[in-house]
Amino acid sequence: MRQDPVRTQLTIAQALEQASRRLRDQMQPRLEAEVLLAHVLGKARSHLHAWPESLLDADQYRRFDRLVDQRVQGQPVAYLTGRREFWSLDLEVTAATLIPRPETELLVEQTLALVPAGARSVIADLGTGSGAIALALAHERPGWQLIASDRSADCLAVAAANRSRFALPNLLLVRGDWCEPLADDSLDALVSNPPYIPCQDPHLRQGDVAREPRAALSAGDDGLDAIRTLVATAPRVLKPGAWILLEHGLDQGEAVRNLMKDGAFTEISTIRDLAGLERVTRARAAL
Ligand code: GLN
Repeated sequence: MRQDPVRTQLTIAQALEQASRRLRDQMQPRLEAEVLLAHVLGKARSHLHAWPESLLDADQYRRFDRLVDQRVQGQPVAYLTGRREFWSLDLEVTAATLIPRPETELLVEQTLALVPAGARSVIADLGTGSGAIALALAHERPGWQLIASDRSADCLAVAAANRSRFALPNLLLVRGDWCEPLADDSLDALVSNPPYIPCQDPHLRQGDVAREPRAALSAGDDGLDAIRTLVATAPRVLKPGAWILLEHGLDQGEAVRNLMKDGAFTEISTIRDLAGLERVTRARAAL
């Protein structure tokens, strides 16, 4: 039996314990309960650890209880709080955007390693979603000009909100499909975390992924439709010798390398993520 929140005031510790039990089917019930309660209270999680005996008022409890209900029904925590951390930036996300993943930080790391830090380089992040990759790069390299594109106006609105949160004047947002909005020979690097999951993959129906926008996740029978478009159209917009860096699925490295070889790219190599899986393939446009 659930306790009546109005008659029985709960402490932070009790509310967390109760919620952790209700979230027992999730991978990290306690952590999720803490993230949701901290969100309701407008505090950091450390506040919960510092004040376990403090009482929740009826409104706080009601809001927390509702979020836990929605989580039990499968709504991702990031959509419930409207936040997800990426590259140490606390980003706004909505159900219109993919939830930024830790493995995508590899794209940021690789771009920072390959493109000279001092140069006034122009870098595009295509299919930017919440803006995660472009924001991380713009934040790390104030001297670079970032261009982030998306064909979804809803995603661009989220990216724009994030741009203002971090006051990044070196990030331009443009609407359009992949390379379409970009000028010829304009980029020093093109990065993208495009959709790459095969459209029949059962993974698309599981967990948080099932609630994310399908267009951000999946592209064609083999998952490679967006990557094929990017590899085919990138040479027009890349300067000679410029880099392309694409995230892809763990079993797509060879296919992506082959597409790049056919596209006359050079210095093609695939980088593994922290889990040891092939995750990012990079190459240079011919000189
Ligand atoms: N890496 C994500 C996943 O497997 C997919 C992200 C994407 O398609 N770009 O859930």
